[in-house]
Amino acid sequence: MNNRFFKILVLSLCFYCPLQSFAWGMYGHRIVGEIAESYLSKKAKKEIRKILGNESLAMASNWADFIKSDTSYRYLDTWHYVNFKKGLNCADFSAVLSVDTSVNAYTKINFLAGELKRQTLTNETKQMYLRLLIHFVGDIHQPLHVSPEGTTGGNDIKVTWFSQASNLHRVWDSHLVEYQQLSYTEHVKAINHTTRAQRDLLQNQPLCEWLFESYTLAQVLHDEITTPNPRLGYEYNFKHVATMNDQLLKGGVRLAGMLNEIFR
Ligand SMILES: [Zn+2]
Repeated sequence: MNNRFFKILVLSLCFYCPLQSFAWGMYGHRIVGEIAESYLSKKAKKEIRKILGNESLAMASNWADFIKSDTSYRYLDTWHYVNFKKGLNCADFSAVLSVDTSVNAYTKINFLAGELKRQTLTNETKQMYLRLLIHFVGDIHQPLHVSPEGTTGGNDIKVTWFSQASNLHRVWDSHLVEYQQLSYTEHVKAINHTTRAQRDLLQNQPLCEWLFESYTLAQVLHDEITTPNPRLGYEYNFKHVATMNDQLLKGGVRLAGMLNEIFR
């Protein structure tokens, strides 16, 4: 088989590959990025433009998933999520996080935010770190990326989304967002309404609280599936669409707060 033919074969087969977990899917990440962009300070906007050029936060937000196709970036795979023991309360949670040095979304968001404050990084490294940070802040607002032990982030929970075989994780990554049938800019227009006071509140919460919210939601979403392979559709959307929008909005507002703090 010649090389070109092989490449075409692999590419065409991949149209039929089930998408691996892409966290919020492309739309969700772009929504978070676009919301964040709307709350950037003048200074942050200027500094980010120096790093990303004409690339918007929305368009930078999926880079961390795109590079999964390149094996040299495999080491980033565990940066997209974080798992915790079951049944922790917020205080336990802070204690665990303060001593946790493992490679996960929490430790790496802290790492990236710290690194981006340094003046000495090359622009290429800054670009990579910024794209990663935008993505991972989005990821941890997808509740099932912050998993209590034993819930597998919903990956092992088989469900049928309308008539499509899927799993709970994928419902929250992509099905629910895509079901709204809005472009990411339309979606942002529909949900991005906040007051100064709401933004202040969200942006002043520590990272640990962002995670705790997702962790609590993840347990609820996991526990409410009580039958094998349930058919999820209209009712599931109706029940959860507000929570999903809330998580997307919080992700965007908090990301803006973090970037404004980094690029002061
Ligand atoms: Zn991700």
